[in-house]
Amino acid sequence: AIEISDLRKSFGSLEVLRGIDLSVGFGEVVCVIGPSGSGKSTLLRCVNLLEEPDGGSVRVGGVEVTDPDCDLDGLRRTIGMVFQSFNLFGHLSVLANLTIAQRRVLKRSRADAELIARENLERVGLADKAGAYPAQLSGGQQQRAAIARSLAMSPELMLFDEPTSALDPELVGEVLAVMRSLAAEGMTMMVVTHEMGFAREVADRVVFMDGGQVVEAGPPADVLGSPTEARTREFLHRVL
Ligand code: ATP
Ligand code: MG
Repeated sequence: AIEISDLRKSFGSLEVLRGIDLSVGFGEVVCVIGPSGSGKSTLLRCVNLLEEPDGGSVRVGGVEVTDPDCDLDGLRRTIGMVFQSFNLFGHLSVLANLTIAQRRVLKRSRADAELIARENLERVGLADKAGAYPAQLSGGQQQRAAIARSLAMSPELMLFDEPTSALDPELVGEVLAVMRSLAAEGMTMMVVTHEMGFAREVADRVVFMDGGQVVEAGPPADVLGSPTEARTREFLHRVL
């Protein structure tokens, strides 16, 4: 579903991505871990061209995203993205948050958009919150609503950038549970996370990044359980 090869990105003289090779197959869940500043968010943002790569290749569903002929709007429509901050529209109800892009971008009818919105609210356990406003929801509920909003666009893959880092500890579990069920349904997911338990249980592969490079990648039992690289071991000692 995603094929990244020799991806490079600099900000000024700062080389943030220094030749990343990484692929995510259909239905696969890949967790990206690594220290702050290692380039995890930049990597994710290059996949839907929120950042423009300086070199290398990023293919999504076989399409080269940096190709000038690439239909960027079409591409972004197939990619759901969930950030640390929930980014719901505060002046809109939860239902309206879920229907607005469906109607404007996908041109769905109001009835279709509302039906799909309600199905996805149900999917994240918020069926009873359709009429609420974001400020009336807990952080965990807001993040679940943000996930439902992405899902309502019928994405082919989902990118998550530390979706639980802004949450109070007691609210992390409900968001991870939603992500876990998505993974179980076969969603293709690339997840930047500090939640090592989630990575261990849900990821098909874990990628450890440091200094803009992939230091180590493989099944969670290997990368988290018996890492071969010293930098991975040091990082895991610090976070576990
Ligand atoms: P964290 O775990 O803190 O989120 P990260 O691994 O996601 O870190 P990135 O956000 O990808 O790291 O940032 C990598 C480096 O690139 C950092 O040094 C950051 O300051 C720098 N950087 C990121 N975005 C920009 C930008 N738009 N302009 C300049 N520098 C940037
Ligand atoms: Mg980041």
